[in-house]
Amino acid sequence: MPAASVAAPPADPAPPGTSPAPVAPVAPVAAGPVVARTRDELRMARRQLTDGDVAVVMTMGALHEGHATLIETARQRAAHVVVTIFLNPLQFGPREDLSRYPRTFDSDMEICRRAGVDLVFAPTPDVIYQDGDPGVRVSAGPLGNVLEGQARPGHFDGMLTVVAKLLHLTRADTAYYGQKDAQQLLLIRRMVGDLDFPVRVVSVPTVREADGLAMSSRNMYLTDSDRETALCLSRALRAGAAAAAEGPSAIRRAARSVLVREPLALIDYLVLVHPSTLEDVPEWYRGEALLAVAGRVGTTRLIDNLPISVGPSGGPLEVFSDVDSAGA
Ligand code: AMP
Repeated sequence: MPAASVAAPPADPAPPGTSPAPVAPVAPVAAGPVVARTRDELRMARRQLTDGDVAVVMTMGALHEGHATLIETARQRAAHVVVTIFLNPLQFGPREDLSRYPRTFDSDMEICRRAGVDLVFAPTPDVIYQDGDPGVRVSAGPLGNVLEGQARPGHFDGMLTVVAKLLHLTRADTAYYGQKDAQQLLLIRRMVGDLDFPVRVVSVPTVREADGLAMSSRNMYLTDSDRETALCLSRALRAGAAAAAEGPSAIRRAARSVLVREPLALIDYLVLVHPSTLEDVPEWYRGEALLAVAGRVGTTRLIDNLPISVGPSGGPLEVFSDVDSAGA
């Protein structure tokens, strides 16, 4: 629902024989989204979203243009949009950046207001985990142990557990996620399919800065020189994609040659994998693959990826073709 408008009060009837006095138009009031902090507030606000389908965009706050694009895409397709803002302690390791993660609630709300969000659910951890740490959690399985899962043990179990809870609490019909977090997106699709969640998952292409850097809340940690260094990640992906016609080892080689020229980026992995198994694609492979990179720049761990079509007329893709996506 777009911003609420206030109906003009009924005008006094004009005396007979005179024309009615002009009534000043009442400007629509750009009402912001309803904010729910508790389960009861969410339940009450969600109950109002009756006429049409409900989309959810889940975030950890510190919203940027990438989040805004998810929200706007959802806004164009669904009758109502719910945004969740929740820093989920369950998906952060003990040495990760939970305590310093940027918290920018006021500007987050402004982005939500401008994008016509109906409802923002911004709970604290005790609202989500009302009985303390959950004993029962969603297991990401083997796909949760590779790539990001290898670097961040338990991350994907914690992420899926909160996604499951937020899907139940918001009762969304559709959920929008960014291709930026490719492994997360894959695991959410798997959970929804494997466990029969009644929700449609839609992916949205990665939104980038003009120079190619993938937008991320964590970019706020980067110094100017870190930011310059960080560009090697997206450059490597583009270089890999430019070699798509020559096959997997050419793609890996082209991407790696960019990364080795930037010793200040401490690369954790650079892989070309099958989009649904996350296994390295063999040299004979032709078709869609995920070129993914992760590394540390300064004190900040960054990830990026590019869907690629491998083969004679290959190159970069916005999103994979066989999934429900909001790509071009
Ligand atoms: P986060 O707040 O980082 O958990 O992200 C919330 C959602 O926004 C996730 O679905 C992310 O994949 C998505 N997202 C984050 N950055 C981008 C980006 N640069 N482009 C598209 N989606 C993004």
